[in-house]
Amino acid sequence: MTPAAYALLNYPALRHNLAKVREPAPSAKIMAVIKANAYGHGLIEVAKTLVGVDAFAVARVDEGVRLRQAGTGGCIVVLEGFTCGEELQLLLEHGLEAVVHGVWQLDLLEETQAAGKLPVWLKLDTGMGRLGFTRSELPMAYRRLSRCHNVADPVHLMTHLANADDLQDPKTGQQLALFHAATVDYSAPKTLANSAGILAWPDSIADWVRPGIMLYGVSPFPGQCGRQLGLQPVMSLHSRLIAVKTIAAGDSVGYGGQWTARRSTRLGVVAIGYGDGYPRQAKTGTPVLVNDVRTALIGRVSMDMITVDLENCPEARPGDPVTLWGGGLPVEEIACCADTIPYTLLCGITQRVQIVAR
Ligand SMILES: *Cc1c(COP(=O)(O)O)cnc(C)c1O
Repeated sequence: MTPAAYALLNYPALRHNLAKVREPAPSAKIMAVIKANAYGHGLIEVAKTLVGVDAFAVARVDEGVRLRQAGTGGCIVVLEGFTCGEELQLLLEHGLEAVVHGVWQLDLLEETQAAGKLPVWLKLDTGMGRLGFTRSELPMAYRRLSRCHNVADPVHLMTHLANADDLQDPKTGQQLALFHAATVDYSAPKTLANSAGILAWPDSIADWVRPGIMLYGVSPFPGQCGRQLGLQPVMSLHSRLIAVKTIAAGDSVGYGGQWTARRSTRLGVVAIGYGDGYPRQAKTGTPVLVNDVRTALIGRVSMDMITVDLENCPEARPGDPVTLWGGGLPVEEIACCADTIPYTLLCGITQRVQIVAR
């Protein structure tokens, strides 16, 4: 018996997408970004499938520790670095690497009595405005890290692109120029590119690249889906019809009675809702596949259910399969109908959704 709501994960597609990373960046080392439970795809399983990458990146120390506890070897970079001495000790204990982005982290590194040496990725803020040293602070930070007895050689240099998904935006060129100017005198290994950088900004490809969303077969660019870029989507989200009925003209559907039938309408109730991570913001008209036929969401998304128009699926019966995204229905399209980005949909899959590996 299949579960009511499940995410089908095509793990072999990860390796196809990894090959697509290598096409524009054949000589770059690859740091596969698997933060946030590998964008909802399962941290450990994704790490096991992507053997052969040069490093993994996670956001938090606990994600790195979980990887180690599951037996993941090799380099694991913690993108937010450490926030206190205890976290620094955990990094050292588990052989994790850290992004260093603030002066107080330098202080902590210098004060700590450590047995091992921490590999570090020194982050320069070139315009994202979140983490990182300014250009004027960089020489000081680099000098302090290079001399610190707790820091492994070499110190890596990195920055993060804020607008690379917009091909027209001049900001990316400015970020690349700033990073180049600030780091040209250092022979340290460098990294700038996320998925959008890898796919659209050749000058952002340096010693290392950091693909995230594209590994999961999804496009970082608005208005374009992964398949158009030669990627294979890894996740599809499924459920089934649990009721089929005909309502009369004038009847309304769902919380708030937001949708009212203009004529007698056949509709179906599907066992999926925002409690599973299906976006509540999805509008009436958002496409849904019933028996692989495209139909439309009507009314508001509830916690456990949605309603769909079955006028073009006359054969549909309770128990029939429903696809919320995946297959012929790109998650990018659903994100657009819910005024969000595909990243949030993938990460937002909840515990209740069973993961089924293909
Ligand atoms: C999340 C993240 C990435 C990956 O971004 P995608 O857009 O998913 O490719 C790369 N670098 C850093 C620092 C990140 O936080």
